[in-house]
Amino acid sequence: MSHRIFNFSAGPAMLPTEALEKSAAALLDFQGKGFGIAEVSHRGKEFEGVLEEATVLCKKLLDVGESHDVVFLQGGATQLFTTIPMNFLSGTADYLVSGEWSKKAAGAAKDLGKVNVVASTEASNFDHSAPQSEWKLTDGADYFHVCTNETVHGHRLPTWPKHPNLIVDASSEFMSRPHPIGDCALVYGGAQKNLGPSGLVLAIVRKDLYPRQKKVPSKLWSFKDQAENKSMINTPPTFGVYILLEVFRWLDAKGGLTAMEQINEQKAKLIYDAVDNSNGFYTGTVTVKEQRSRMNVTYRLPSEELTDEFVKTAAKQGMVGLKGYRTVGGIRASIYNAMPVEGCQALASFMTDFAGKKG
Ligand code: PMP
Repeated sequence: MSHRIFNFSAGPAMLPTEALEKSAAALLDFQGKGFGIAEVSHRGKEFEGVLEEATVLCKKLLDVGESHDVVFLQGGATQLFTTIPMNFLSGTADYLVSGEWSKKAAGAAKDLGKVNVVASTEASNFDHSAPQSEWKLTDGADYFHVCTNETVHGHRLPTWPKHPNLIVDASSEFMSRPHPIGDCALVYGGAQKNLGPSGLVLAIVRKDLYPRQKKVPSKLWSFKDQAENKSMINTPPTFGVYILLEVFRWLDAKGGLTAMEQINEQKAKLIYDAVDNSNGFYTGTVTVKEQRSRMNVTYRLPSEELTDEFVKTAAKQGMVGLKGYRTVGGIRASIYNAMPVEGCQALASFMTDFAGKKG
């Protein structure tokens, strides 16, 4: 493979080179059969084998058993969070609004039923997530939806909350650390950060939810029907699922999610240390330090001009995708599983150098 630069994009984002190389080979010729994996029927034995192995490996990595189904869906995380109230909102659903994404998920639910926002930090531009002590939960809510890592703002819930029917948007931290999936009703994530290509969504659904499902306009949006049909009511995104399988194999070979968490902690620390040791040149945008994301590191420079210069100079040195989201500004370095430690070391040393020259 030719030169690969450090891509700090928030998603679609870097994927492990090894998984991409294997996927590229399988696209051209699957196991020496003379056809590529994207060229065969989803009902044939080749793709069936891919789906089966991906499901088994996914459950192994997440340490979840028979209580939950794994489904590979289409339409992105946005479609997924729209189908949640379609299926499960009968009375009131609780939503923690901690950033752009949980706000959008709550908005989609409000179009379909009664939503209780348990807490919102929008007034402070989502610079943190409201602490549990401030949540106003509904007794007997249909479910409680949280986004455990807010991609735009760079904060996360250090531990996932406990709730009998917890629904988690884990898009930007899926498989970056061990997750208590067994305690959750439904966990979902758009693939394009840690897992694979955009458009594909991985969802882990607790089977005891099915009897509670409402009638939805199409089976396509029914979790139960998708699970019963092994995610194949219609043609699934076969090549996307194949890439996911290669990423799962890569994660498994690396030692699984506990090993991933250790590396991710180390990577994030390199950049946060560069922020904290800059004598105020860089300021973290997240006001509650324990909530700092290990996936999306957000900080500001003293001025717009310096931010522009930082982004441009970093790009010349092989570090791209660093510009912050427009509502937050500053810098956002997304360092998902595939970002090597060397990428974070390079960024941290560039930051220190830049602050030394401009500070
Ligand atoms: N949730 C989170 C946490 C996200 O970061 C994103 C995308 N950045 C989404 C949902 C929406 O994903 P999609 O564009 O696949 O609909």
